[in-house]
Amino acid sequence: MNVYDRIYINGQFVKPMGTEELELRNPVNKQVTGKVVLGNVDDTRNAIEAAKAAFKSFSKTSIEERMEILARLHDSLSQRFDKLTEATVSEYGAPVSVAKMLTQIAVNAFSHMKETVESYPFVRPAGTAQVRMAPVGVVGVITPWNANATHLANKLAPSLAAGCTVVVKPSEFSAAQTELFMEAVHAANIPAGVINIVNGKGEVVGEELTRHPDVTGITFTGSTAVGKRIAAGAAANLKRITLELGGKSPSVILDDADLTKAVPLAVSAGFINSGQACLAGTRVLVPESRLDEVKRLMAETVGALKVGDLWNEAAVIGPMVNEKQFERVQHYINQAINDGAEVVVGGAGSPEGLDGGYYVKPTVFANVTNDMTIAQEEVFGPVLSIITYKTEEEAIEIANDTPYGLQAFVFSGSTERGNRVAEQIVAGRISVNGLHDEPQAPFGGFKNSGIGRDHGSYGLEQYLEPKAILGRNAVM
Ligand code: NAD
Repeated sequence: MNVYDRIYINGQFVKPMGTEELELRNPVNKQVTGKVVLGNVDDTRNAIEAAKAAFKSFSKTSIEERMEILARLHDSLSQRFDKLTEATVSEYGAPVSVAKMLTQIAVNAFSHMKETVESYPFVRPAGTAQVRMAPVGVVGVITPWNANATHLANKLAPSLAAGCTVVVKPSEFSAAQTELFMEAVHAANIPAGVINIVNGKGEVVGEELTRHPDVTGITFTGSTAVGKRIAAGAAANLKRITLELGGKSPSVILDDADLTKAVPLAVSAGFINSGQACLAGTRVLVPESRLDEVKRLMAETVGALKVGDLWNEAAVIGPMVNEKQFERVQHYINQAINDGAEVVVGGAGSPEGLDGGYYVKPTVFANVTNDMTIAQEEVFGPVLSIITYKTEEEAIEIANDTPYGLQAFVFSGSTERGNRVAEQIVAGRISVNGLHDEPQAPFGGFKNSGIGRDHGSYGLEQYLEPKAILGRNAVM
């Protein structure tokens, strides 16, 4: 039994005052593996007080000092690469290749942000004035379970680079990753109070961060429903908010695409992180004339995917994180069937031999129209819907007919055509002819997918306020 009963406040590990406990289970076999003791409102207030006190001096540190801190966090997290990967496999159920990728992104977040600040113009002219980009203050960082350590790093790196101090509320389902993260922070010898970490529930620790007047910024990754609640709560004090929320991303396969390449790529885009990914391309838009070919290739590709056996490098699909998530995915699969969708592969229930864990069958539906629930709502599991279109214009219209706008994928035999279609899709990121990533490019969404952007200078600016100084050379 692993017991996670410490939080990190003012440079020290302390026992939370909160006494509520949350049971942790291994998603592969549903066995209880441990428990986490949850912090309460008083723990949160102590953490905020420490962050507020530390802000006085930390906000005045030089860019070089902050770059040094980013470098130390990079090295400290790097040294825990294997342990963090192991925690991501065993507590979250990520296949090992996915867990390694997530850990690498977490480690790299600090080195990429170091590069960003090196050339970022913190001080610049605006006419006769001088503009200084100043840190917004104490930032509340709230993360989800689907890549807890990755999101922690993606949010910590720019907030520290900007000169902010932070109170982190990680996902309560990710206590093992959080414990390693706390150790990495402590070992990196960061000034006391700059980073504070409080395990706890969203309705307790998260809401106190949203409410407290001394927290001037909130950066959140999670569901759209909770994001809206945070936005409403933060409005009382006009906190700066960055919200990275849900998605229902389209994968647009154009009629000139080589389907033997496009279909496997669309499957990978849809099943990223076992489908528990905000950016997953879960609506696959295909030309009506090529539907039969797409269905055949989908069934073949998905049928060959390795589900389970998480420590095998070839595994691509793991279990859902917990019972609630398992039930949610089953609910959406059953509803799609009741609504008349055709099961191309997969369906309700668990894959053969894997019913001891929270595994769902990787599922592809056809005969889906864009107004059906399965095409409009975020499932957050390995479930794709094939939707047909007749013309390129209709494909773009369907792609944009969603409350979300986080990500899109376009596949075409012509790069020029792929780019032309990409430019017409309303999404924060559009990937043409592949599953590309660029850490300096902004990440975030239009519409219900959020407000603001992570990564690079776009991410850094979420934690900065411009301050204009006028009359610098004026003499009285
Ligand atoms: P969630 O919204 O339930 O929880 C996210 C975090 O918010 C958790 O730490 C939770 O404890 C906290 N929280 C819950 N209620 C709160 C409240 N009232 N006030 C403050 N904090 C509160 O999301 P989840 O189930 O952990 O993660 C899945 C969701 O996250 C999906 O919708 C997914 O699309 C989204 N997500 C988005 C991105 C992105 O970058 N856009 C990335 C990953 C996940």
